[in-house]
Amino acid sequence: MEKAPNEKLSISHPEISSEDEEPPSKTNFIDEASFLDEYLKSRSDRDKNTISERSLNFLQTFFPESTVKDWNNWHWQIKNSARSIEQLARYLHLSDNEVKPDGPNSQSLPLRISPYYISLLDRENPEHPLRKSVVPVFDEFLVHPGESADPLSEENDSPVPNIVHRYPDRVLFLVTGFCSTYCRYCTRTRMVAKNKCHIGLKAWEPGLQYIEQHHEVRDVLISGGDPLTMPDLHIEYLLSRLRNIPHVEIIRIGTKVPVVLPQRITRPLVNMLKKYHPLYLSIHFTHADEITPEVKEACEKLANAGIPMGSQTVLLKGINDSVPVMKNLMHALLKVRVRPYYLYQCDPVVGSGHFRTTIEKGLEIMRGLRGYTSGYAVPTYVVDAPGGGGKIPLLPDYFEGCEDGYVLLKNYEGKDFRYPNFST
Ligand code: SF4
Repeated sequence: MEKAPNEKLSISHPEISSEDEEPPSKTNFIDEASFLDEYLKSRSDRDKNTISERSLNFLQTFFPESTVKDWNNWHWQIKNSARSIEQLARYLHLSDNEVKPDGPNSQSLPLRISPYYISLLDRENPEHPLRKSVVPVFDEFLVHPGESADPLSEENDSPVPNIVHRYPDRVLFLVTGFCSTYCRYCTRTRMVAKNKCHIGLKAWEPGLQYIEQHHEVRDVLISGGDPLTMPDLHIEYLLSRLRNIPHVEIIRIGTKVPVVLPQRITRPLVNMLKKYHPLYLSIHFTHADEITPEVKEACEKLANAGIPMGSQTVLLKGINDSVPVMKNLMHALLKVRVRPYYLYQCDPVVGSGHFRTTIEKGLEIMRGLRGYTSGYAVPTYVVDAPGGGGKIPLLPDYFEGCEDGYVLLKNYEGKDFRYPNFST
């Protein structure tokens, strides 16, 4: 049947009864339309339980008794994480270099990888970038000059347990030692996991009291470990305590959960987080291959809740240390609404020498980004100064000096320009 040109499109749905319908006045038509909008929005906002084909094959191969619903339950993911080389060998064909670390002298950084993240790893190739970032290797036993257990001297800047107060107006609050997946180059190798998971609410009290008493603290970065591995109630307790401190203007959470455990970004979690704005997330990404449909969905939920997201990426040899790889990652981040924020030179933590590039390599990558892609896709390259000097930004040299009142500048293509530097 053809519709008259002005006939309204009616959306029928079996869950909405039309029995008591009245002829629509202008007012109740608008109400009904907005009600339907809300209703449809709430349906499409529900957790979609995305699973990509690769992960589905992995699930069916290695967990034939488990369902997609199990897979999308973050507790199931944590429970079924690989925590030893033997467990990992079920899923990957390990090389000699990868097999050694689980011996009696194994390094202090524990092994834990979520099944989801294992499903992204190449089974055969030990050189696969994501695999290198999480599978332990023999090189971790090698200690290089300048490395230390606490390369940023965080413990020297810690006035009370779990607080690092280095910069004047902000603090780092280390609220847990647990991560769902451990990165092999972790700066906080000294504190993560160590046999127990979350440190518990009581352990936060000195940190919370310190922030309450220090009126200059306007920005709190919650990190660890990974804060989003804690139960919703614990996160909410922490956020509400911080939000009740009048001088705390912004709260940031540092996390890798949306990347290694996107199943954790549930609707209830997001609905809770958005009550504590202004809240920012700094998400630890390593490579564009991490940005799967699952990660996209997790980032979408967070972005739709009004949570600004920035990325933190560590420059890692053989993983992301080239211009095309880094550019791909930065572009992929913008597509999932994450703004590239920091590119870190790898900290000299004990056993991380095989991951570290030279500073020149970092500058080469920055030179290959600036001008060659959108400014939004260019992160700030920083060295976190060993000994606690804080973040020092590094830029390729575009400023070449001054001459006769002019500033001599080089553009991204290496061409020279003179800028008149006169004040009137
Ligand atoms: S997620 Fe962060 S804290 Fe956890 S292991 Fe990786 S780098 Fe360390």
